[in-house]
Amino acid sequence: MVYSDFCRTNIEFVNAGQLQDCCLRLPYRKLVLIMSEQAHRRYRLENFVHALEEQYELLWIKESVSYPTQGMLKSGLDALRGFEPEAILAVGGGSAIDFAKGMKAFYNSGEEVTAGAITEHLQKKQIRENQIDIIAVPTTAGTGAEVTKWATIWDDDKRCKYSIDQDALKPDQAYIVPEFVAQADRKLTITTGLDSMAHAMEAYWSKKSSPLVRGLARESIRTTIQYLEQILRNPSDVSLREKQCVASVLSGLAFSMTRTTACHSISYPLTMQYHIPHGTAVAMTLAQVAERNQGAFEEEEELLALFAEHGGIRAYLERVCGTEVSLNLRDYQITKEAIADIAHSSFTLGRMDNNPVELDAEDVIEILESTY
Ligand SMILES: [Zn+2]
Repeated sequence: MVYSDFCRTNIEFVNAGQLQDCCLRLPYRKLVLIMSEQAHRRYRLENFVHALEEQYELLWIKESVSYPTQGMLKSGLDALRGFEPEAILAVGGGSAIDFAKGMKAFYNSGEEVTAGAITEHLQKKQIRENQIDIIAVPTTAGTGAEVTKWATIWDDDKRCKYSIDQDALKPDQAYIVPEFVAQADRKLTITTGLDSMAHAMEAYWSKKSSPLVRGLARESIRTTIQYLEQILRNPSDVSLREKQCVASVLSGLAFSMTRTTACHSISYPLTMQYHIPHGTAVAMTLAQVAERNQGAFEEEEELLALFAEHGGIRAYLERVCGTEVSLNLRDYQITKEAIADIAHSSFTLGRMDNNPVELDAEDVIEILESTY
């Protein structure tokens, strides 16, 4: 494992006032802001936007993006045509940051970019070269998108999902604002916390894991176990939220070096076809995949020890989810007959084959049946 390119993203923890000061000192003239109207209101960013408008030539894309598709990228790129931005500032959840990465990946200053051309580039895993910087301000703690060099783009026709994965897409700057994260409701707090947990666990047992990855991942898991339930009891406590932000950045750094494994691979059809939130979909199979991986990865005992006093991984996850989030497929209008189809569409290259134990469709069917 080479550690030289550990993380080139400059990461700063700031409060809302400091965020504004930092964003007014950026070395650009032309800036694209990706932030939904909803985020604008929720985080009270009226003054922030006014200040940006005074300081920069600003183009604000206000669409609310959840699970960006080629069509959404096309509309965004149409709005950008001729603007020639120097940087994209994304304020929002993982999807807003993925959207910013997609915009950078396919930005073309001159001609119109069609949805077909975007699909073709996604299939060929090509991006366009440009010097646009990405500044990420994640408003949830869990996706790790602020420190990874990839983004998920979902097919408009819901047939597949694409991944763009290039060094150039890693954000240059990340501002972590625990005050914003403290606005997340209980369900979002749980699902994003579980996503962070899955990134850490999957990095830990990934084929590309290393002692450094496992150290980061363990600290991330330990922090989530210590603080996530406290946060659910005291949702507006910013200092507790900051702990979960740290856990999320740590798991982001861990899986930025390994990518994910079987749980993420199995989750994609569950999210695309059955709209199960990403963090829930990945957590559904964590305990079962951990069991399958038994004996196949290093420092396993140290990982399991973190859950020992909580009755194991499954018991811990169910306790966190409580009555608000179900980890059972039957609660998402999925029939037992659909499981085989889901299993067959769950093999994402670079994810399933990154699992330390090889899983075939029959294994995935058994895993899914045990979560029914
Ligand atoms: Zn994830």
